[in-house]
Amino acid sequence: MIEKSQKEFKKAKSYIAGGVNSPVRSFASVGGEPLFIKSASGSYVYDIDGNKYLDFVGSWGPMILGHSDGDVNNAIVKQLAKGLSYGAPTRVETKLAKKIISIYDCIDKVRFVSSGTEATMSAIRLARGYTGKDNIIKFNGCYHGHSDALLVKAGSGLATHSKPSSLGVPKNTTKNTLLCQYNDIDELKEVFKVGDIACVIIEPIAGNMGLVPADMKFLKAIKELCNKHDTLLIFDEVMSGFRASLKGAYGLVGITPDIVTFGKVIGGGMPVGAFGAKAEIMDYLSPIGGVYQAGTLSGNPIAMEAGLATLQKISQDENFYNVLEEKAEYLMGGIKKVADIMGIDFCFNVRGSMFGMFFAKKLPKNIDDVAKGNAKHFVEFFNYMLKRGFYFAPSMYESGFINAKMTYEELDACIDATKNIMSKLK
Ligand code: PLP
Repeated sequence: MIEKSQKEFKKAKSYIAGGVNSPVRSFASVGGEPLFIKSASGSYVYDIDGNKYLDFVGSWGPMILGHSDGDVNNAIVKQLAKGLSYGAPTRVETKLAKKIISIYDCIDKVRFVSSGTEATMSAIRLARGYTGKDNIIKFNGCYHGHSDALLVKAGSGLATHSKPSSLGVPKNTTKNTLLCQYNDIDELKEVFKVGDIACVIIEPIAGNMGLVPADMKFLKAIKELCNKHDTLLIFDEVMSGFRASLKGAYGLVGITPDIVTFGKVIGGGMPVGAFGAKAEIMDYLSPIGGVYQAGTLSGNPIAMEAGLATLQKISQDENFYNVLEEKAEYLMGGIKKVADIMGIDFCFNVRGSMFGMFFAKKLPKNIDDVAKGNAKHFVEFFNYMLKRGFYFAPSMYESGFINAKMTYEELDACIDATKNIMSKLK
């Protein structure tokens, strides 16, 4: 029963565009209506109808410690007593910056912003300012937030300039964004021939098409092409940072980016983003350099305290990510076993605390492969599991997340619940 949520959604639609403040929350792609959440604690979210859900969404990534973590809450409460925002420097900004840099040893300095969108948008401006070049390369299926230049779909030919994928984005804004297929080295080489390329931006472990890691060969080719053409490499780790491993994708792939973007986990559930690079690049930013970037609430003390408490906790325990990855493997492996027995095509990827599941025979290499998965199976699976109290992301193009509070008993219950629905999928 989700009657109260349904009522609230109806009401919200009168006052909020589409009833939601971010489109995927509307459940539009799974044919349902969103749950209105009342509270969350540990591994669970609770809706306003009194239902309890094991939460694999985790606010789309940030809640790696689970909800309402005591240490994060204490850090926030302590800061609350001292004020919410000053628009002036605070010690905690330096502490969090230092913490991030101590883990991501490829960067010397960071700048904090309030969202992942701002982080990638600013990183691209920085890359353009530093290189003096205009074009950027992005990959089909990678999501880097909703700034104009990144809302693109392919143009008519391979190495042509892209078209906007949203109304309201002027053609001129996307003409410098070159789109390339993920994991396709030949196409990338062609696109590089356009020239004047300031940066390549990539999710090295793509979490916005299920979970699709870039091939090592592909990443090496990107790095070589970037070096050859004096192009900067941006790793967008807004999702994978401090999620795929402590050092995110960077820690797993062993390739050094020039700029890294962060979000989600580094705010511990508060609105935060950041981007970082070597000092030589970062010093192009205003007030030292000529690349302008600013924010009224950037480095907000409450958000910084939440992020710092989160990073301190997840970096304390050497085994933290091994434990999360074992749980992710356990969950996905368990569901796959059920699917295999029932003769349902199912495969999955796991990286640290992230997982991606596909109703398909073969693991996808790019967004077109993901789209070939059985969408009907996903929708039926999603809705069935939600009714039984298991909250997966309401889209087959999203990753799932394990948090530190999840237990094997909870995962077993989830695997067990899949038996019935897998037997019904045809
Ligand atoms: N980059 C990646 C890889 C993301 O997954 C997201 C959001 O999901 C963003 C950027 C945009 O972040 P935000 O939603 O905080 O603006």
